[in-house]
Amino acid sequence: MLTRISPFVLLGLSLAATAARADFLPPNNLHLEDGLRSANLTEKDFNEVIDEAQAIYAPIIKNTHKGTLKINRLWTNTTVNASATQIGSSWEVNMYGGLARRPEITRDGFSMVLCHEIGHHLGGYPFSSSWAANEGESDYFATISCARQLWKDSPEANAEFRKTIAASPKAKCDAVWTDETDQDLCYRTMAAGKSTADLLSALGGTKIGWDTPDKKVVKSTDNAHPQGQCRLDTYMAGALCNKEFDEKIIPGKDLGSRRNGKDAEMATAKFTCTKYEDYDVGVRPLCWFKPAL
Ligand SMILES: [Zn+2]
Repeated sequence: MLTRISPFVLLGLSLAATAARADFLPPNNLHLEDGLRSANLTEKDFNEVIDEAQAIYAPIIKNTHKGTLKINRLWTNTTVNASATQIGSSWEVNMYGGLARRPEITRDGFSMVLCHEIGHHLGGYPFSSSWAANEGESDYFATISCARQLWKDSPEANAEFRKTIAASPKAKCDAVWTDETDQDLCYRTMAAGKSTADLLSALGGTKIGWDTPDKKVVKSTDNAHPQGQCRLDTYMAGALCNKEFDEKIIPGKDLGSRRNGKDAEMATAKFTCTKYEDYDVGVRPLCWFKPAL
């Protein structure tokens, strides 16, 4: 089933139709700025980041979910976005050079964007379509699961972030994680989330900070792209949840029409931090998520 809609088509569609897309950003004109400022990432970095994720997730998607992960490497394309789509058993991700060349994006920040797109496939509840985790959940998956998978075997690189992490995210990590290697991984994940959120805030014209959480409380779960601060809050929550996600299970997907109900929330509670299990730290922020339980 093809559910991705190109940004060009989107312009002519109603809001109801946009719920099916699984992009990283809303449609934008930033491709016009491509090449005007110096980038952090080279084409080699771009390919290495994709190689790393492909090596971890292709076997999981093949062996457990009977799908084929296809990450399309669109380096020469100026689009400032990324997207996910499923066409039958082909689970695809489109990664564009236009986003990789943005000056705000670090190598790890680019990994977070790729993790977000993989999150659409594997994150589960809450869903925005029959297969896709919604935007907030894809961000949560990026840090609670994907960042750990990518970087858990790189303790020396992770330890470098102990030298540079700001005091506030460091204290938040230290309050949850006691093991030094876990703390280092948390610092790295926080820094990556900030890099990505900096791009989002630059695009949205909003300010973000470690200690200025979005105070919005939604009345029902919002499937659309949250504002930059809300997305940073989500990346932080994932890094600060000390539960272990299981990539072999897509929580709630097997529940069909009940995939966004209480049973799905109970399914995800095994692998994520929820108020249902009395967690205060590491839970999905209420700026996009309305608990079912
Ligand atoms: Zn998305």
